[in-house]
Amino acid sequence: MSRVYNFSAGPAVLPEEVLQELADEMMDYNGTGMSVMEMSHRSAAFQDIIDTTERDLRELMGIPDNYKVLFLQGGASQQFAMIPMNIMRNRVADYIVTGQWAKKAYEEASKYGKANKIASSEDRTFSYIPDCSDLPVSPDADYVYICENNTIYGTKFWTLPNTKGKDLVSDVSSCFLSEPVDVSKYAIIYGGVQKNVGPAGMVITIIRDDLITDNVLPGTPTMLTYKTHADAGSLYNTPNAYCIYVCGKVFKWLKRMGGLAEMKKRNEEKAKLLYDFLDGSKLFKGTVEKKDRSLMNVPFITGDTQMDAKFVKAAAAEGLVNLKGHRSVGGMRASIYNAMPMKGVQTLVDFMKKFEEENA
Ligand SMILES: *Cc1c(COP(=O)(O)O)cnc(C)c1O
Repeated sequence: MSRVYNFSAGPAVLPEEVLQELADEMMDYNGTGMSVMEMSHRSAAFQDIIDTTERDLRELMGIPDNYKVLFLQGGASQQFAMIPMNIMRNRVADYIVTGQWAKKAYEEASKYGKANKIASSEDRTFSYIPDCSDLPVSPDADYVYICENNTIYGTKFWTLPNTKGKDLVSDVSSCFLSEPVDVSKYAIIYGGVQKNVGPAGMVITIIRDDLITDNVLPGTPTMLTYKTHADAGSLYNTPNAYCIYVCGKVFKWLKRMGGLAEMKKRNEEKAKLLYDFLDGSKLFKGTVEKKDRSLMNVPFITGDTQMDAKFVKAAAAEGLVNLKGHRSVGGMRASIYNAMPMKGVQTLVDFMKKFEEENA
């Protein structure tokens, strides 16, 4: 067996212990004589899996009782429409646009009502988070929307915006479970799981229960109504059962590791190693304003596209893969999610040092 260090932004690295458990249970899950992939979602065995998965997530994040946890399909992108369809009751919402994902969400909401772009960092290629302490929040806005960690650009909101009393909706796809959060500060907090949690094909939406009503925009499909899934315990139709099971394994792994406070500590140590190197390097440099740097996605460049390409290729030959930056920004990006061990980041930094000596 030969495993690489996978710096992909998503689908991304999963903990090796979890992958091993999945392999061990592939042919016979817990004495059922079948794989979870083959199991009815109405079976007692699967009900136990989804219940345990939800319970462990609630424990990890300290989710208050007045929030529902929904396991939904359609990825994070489906939420871009589902959110306005369900909670844009005045048909007004304010969006803070800090990258491609926030921009897509903003554009989608514009189909359903008046989406206001109240702040943006597009003027400097989304390399910073705008000051959100006193924004012109619309008096009739149904919510204020952010993308909390910008996967492509490598920025993170370290302070939540002042929403002036409006509900906050946050896409946390690429920082999900990377640190403790106060769920009560959000109306909806959601993430596609393929970045920091599990396999592709599912989004977890944590939503305050007063927002789950039949009062949705006319024409909203049954499948895109939060109430449908909340009333059915995420089992209205066949869910992504295997993905729920894998996420449950990852939640158990996170609990064994010491929970989200411990993950934050580890993530800070890993990111510091890489950022400190970038700050002292003569060849490589980070592209993001220091105060807004993400712990999860670290973009960097040499300033020479040919040198960038040479680096990505040479790194891959050493088993350091998927370091190419997003097609919209170029350069490199190292995604160092929860499941990336310190050793992976150390190996990357050692390789960058060597490459710098040989190419400076
Ligand atoms: C990847 C990503 C998305 C899109 O996720 P899909 O599951 O592919 O729809 C949305 N938001 C953020 C922040 C992401 O990183």
